[in-house]
Amino acid sequence: MPKTTQETGGRSGRAAGMNRFRVQTIAFIILYTLIVYVALFYQAQRLLNDSLRAQAESYYKLVYHTREWNANHGGVWVFKAEGIDTNPYLEELGVSADLKTDSGAELTLRNPAAMIDGISDLTQQASGVTFRMTSDKPINPANAPDAWEREGLARFSKGETDFAEHFERDLHPPVYRYMQPLSVEESCLVCHAVQGYMVGDIRGAIVITIPIDGMLDQLRNIRTLLFGLAIATLAISLTAAQYALNRLEGRVKNANARLARIAVTDDLTGVANRRATYARLSDEFARSKRTQQPLSVVLLDIDYFKRVNDSYGHGVGDSVLKETSHRMQNTVREYDVFGRVGGEEFLAIAPDTNAEDALRLAERLVRNVRVEPVIVGDVALFVTASAGSATMGVEDERPDDLIARADVALYNAKRLGRDRAASADET
Ligand code: GH3
Ligand code: MG
Ligand code: MG
Repeated sequence: MPKTTQETGGRSGRAAGMNRFRVQTIAFIILYTLIVYVALFYQAQRLLNDSLRAQAESYYKLVYHTREWNANHGGVWVFKAEGIDTNPYLEELGVSADLKTDSGAELTLRNPAAMIDGISDLTQQASGVTFRMTSDKPINPANAPDAWEREGLARFSKGETDFAEHFERDLHPPVYRYMQPLSVEESCLVCHAVQGYMVGDIRGAIVITIPIDGMLDQLRNIRTLLFGLAIATLAISLTAAQYALNRLEGRVKNANARLARIAVTDDLTGVANRRATYARLSDEFARSKRTQQPLSVVLLDIDYFKRVNDSYGHGVGDSVLKETSHRMQNTVREYDVFGRVGGEEFLAIAPDTNAEDALRLAERLVRNVRVEPVIVGDVALFVTASAGSATMGVEDERPDDLIARADVALYNAKRLGRDRAASADET
């Protein structure tokens, strides 16, 4: 059957809907995968940062206790030797830093700051980690804070007691810096009282610097790995989605085709239903008007059908309707339209058919209904039908006019004794 405009409109609308669904599904998969992998990446970064902070914190504690031990013991005396000179800053604090023992050995005092510097030199050689003390009032100018440290010290002096942390990625190697405040304790005052400190004052901070080139490498590797996994996930899920969507589309198409078929088919007989038959009549009528090609219709009605129902029951009546409609459907040409338009009424639409041929078609239809009995179970029924044909003429303005004339012809056929055909036109 050629498509009506309504059908094609519905079909392209469905195709657009399916495409939209496809695009939405693909967009959802891409977005979801991106979100998952970006979240994984940030989680990995957070874990690495946390471990870096934990590392810095334990360094801080170690340094803090080392400093504490030194301060509690009033400093550590070491032998003077090559590279171990007198700490000049102790003199400034009024502490005499050199000592000669009775046996003639020369000793010099190592205060907490100097001891920490020395240990920091060792850790720097071993792992690149350094630490130092910084203060707003440094005695050793090398311990003066840089910009970030100054900011941290300012925060600590306002009463913040937690840490400050900071990445310097532009350095070679890039570093992570961590600092915690250092408050004045009794043991500090031995040397630092001259600076006007009291117990509990924030005197400065311990700053830990950890190289992070290794961590950044690790992060880069994780990023590459996650990127690869994201691509693989996308490839797999998009392929699976395409496959599922294609199957879905196939099923939707089949279901739609089935629905479209059901919409135009008569349940009982399987021939075109009334709506579809009249829709085709409209199309053919308009086409004939345009092309001036003849168009004929044949209206058919089974004779005394009520008696079949009354004598054998509705079920047998249904079987008779099925069989006779098949006989008639098989009688019309391939490009004719045939449908059930009422209980036991049928309509054949014959394009390019003049009145004479239409009457012949009507007679052929009647003959083929009658040609042999309809067998239902063990009952043989002699069924006949009457037909009225009409061919489109100038008087037919609308399809209904043509049908009305065919109906009059059918009525005449009935009146003349049934089991026959009549034409509404001169033949
Ligand atoms: P006529 O020769 O004048 O056409 O007589 P008729 O008995 O065929 O006409 P009438 O209009 O009196 O009866 C038509 C009958 O068709 C009545 C109705 O019950 C029956 N019928 C309509 N649709 C169906 C159907 O789907 N199945 C069955 N079994 N019967 C149907
Ligand atoms: Mg009838
Ligand atoms: Mg009838």
